[in-house]
Amino acid sequence: MAFDYDLFVIGGGSGGVRAGRVAAETGAKVGLAEEFRMGGTCVIRGCVPKKLMVFASGYGPAAAEARAYGWDYDGGTFNWDRFKPMLDAELERLEGIYRKNLGGAGADIFDARAVVKDPHTIELSTGESFTAKHILVATGGRPFVPDTTPGAAELGITSNEVFNLETFPERILIVGGGYIACEFACIFNGLGADVAQWYRGAQILRGFDDEVRGFLAEHIAERGVDLHVGLEVERMEKRDENGRDRIWVKGTDGREEVFDQVLFATGRTANTDGLGLEDAGVTLGRWGEVVVDEYSQTSVPSVYAVGDVTNRINLTPVAIREGAAFVDTVFKGIPTKPDHENVASAVFTQPEYGTVGMSEEEARAKEPVDVYCAAFRPMQKSFIGVNERVLFKLIVSQATQKVLGCHIVADGAGEMIQLAAVAVKMGATKEDFDRTVAVHPTMSEEIVLMKTPTRTG
Ligand code: NDP
Repeated sequence: MAFDYDLFVIGGGSGGVRAGRVAAETGAKVGLAEEFRMGGTCVIRGCVPKKLMVFASGYGPAAAEARAYGWDYDGGTFNWDRFKPMLDAELERLEGIYRKNLGGAGADIFDARAVVKDPHTIELSTGESFTAKHILVATGGRPFVPDTTPGAAELGITSNEVFNLETFPERILIVGGGYIACEFACIFNGLGADVAQWYRGAQILRGFDDEVRGFLAEHIAERGVDLHVGLEVERMEKRDENGRDRIWVKGTDGREEVFDQVLFATGRTANTDGLGLEDAGVTLGRWGEVVVDEYSQTSVPSVYAVGDVTNRINLTPVAIREGAAFVDTVFKGIPTKPDHENVASAVFTQPEYGTVGMSEEEARAKEPVDVYCAAFRPMQKSFIGVNERVLFKLIVSQATQKVLGCHIVADGAGEMIQLAAVAVKMGATKEDFDRTVAVHPTMSEEIVLMKTPTRTG
């Protein structure tokens, strides 16, 4: 049977665009539908605008440190009205590049919502309908807001709206303790807002290394975020304060506070609603995610899925690798499983947290380990009396001496962990680290200078 397309991709984010482009480059006829903006969460309302705001938020504290270093410099305030159009223009530029690269590879782009009608048919919101030999679902995820909290859905914002605020909030409450919550708490704090962060659990960043979680929480609070654990929003209401709309929030401990914005960073959910997947026979998981095998194939052989919609490791570079592996498998005849082992990531808090491999708790549950840990005041901060420490931590297998996990909390840790990740991925041992001569004077030289384990067993 002749199909209209060899591949039809639903979703123009990181995974979908990569798969569509490389499939088209093999000579396959590719169509891609995107209902919002090309680039997806990462480019339009995730990693990219977030990182630009991280950069912006670093200059205020850096200026304060510059004064301490002897610069005659009168501080200033962050001007959202000046930054916002620059951010918008940059995202538009990047969106254009995504569109151009995909179109340039020969794919057809449809600015429309697509639904799966059957294992080989796609129907678009424009009314068009196409057949495809393979369908790739790459629809990503969307923020989840707890519907049990009165007022949250109407008055709260999510990471989808945060980049489009009309005015910069003087006071903002961030709800949650994951990546997004911690990053935005630090961003708004650095930009000069008065920030509170409420997290329901006992410690932020559940799932990460326990020692790092405590260390980071302490530093986030020291940098000025009013961080509370074991605290949730009980209810919230709109209040008028001298003609200004504000949000009154009652906490589960009885506290009452008033904010300009309340950002819910309470997790994300897979974008599978109304896609027609279940009717087409595609199995969805408990959270609505598309269930796939190691080759990203769903329960329907012609339908594959990559990226956040599969809820494996929800990171852009992983989605890209999954998209490329799908093309290798299906269009290049090289069966390829995306590699989900030792994926490094960074939480762009202030200070940053870079991590690769296992946490101490994960590693200990598997085998006896030696833990090397150094926490110290780096030269740049101690010179001006800033009482902030950095943390370098290695978790080493006692049996093989391989480094099982590396954790860094420091300004620039996101950059450092990328390089440490190469060594960990290669299976470097503690001795390999020790044999490496330090780069002096740097903070990160500590990673090759830790001689005695802090804990063993
Ligand atoms: P996370 O899963 O990291 O965190 C969700 C947070 O919301 C947790 O603290 C969770 O608490 C809390 N939560 C969940 N449900 C509720 C509820 N009903 N009421 C109150 N709190 C709740 O999700 P994020 O949205 O922060 O990020 C999504 C994913 O996106 C990340 O896992 C990551 O993969 C990716 N990401 C990566 C970034 C990076 O690489 N720098 C940056 C941003 C996102 P609890 O722990 O108790 O469950």
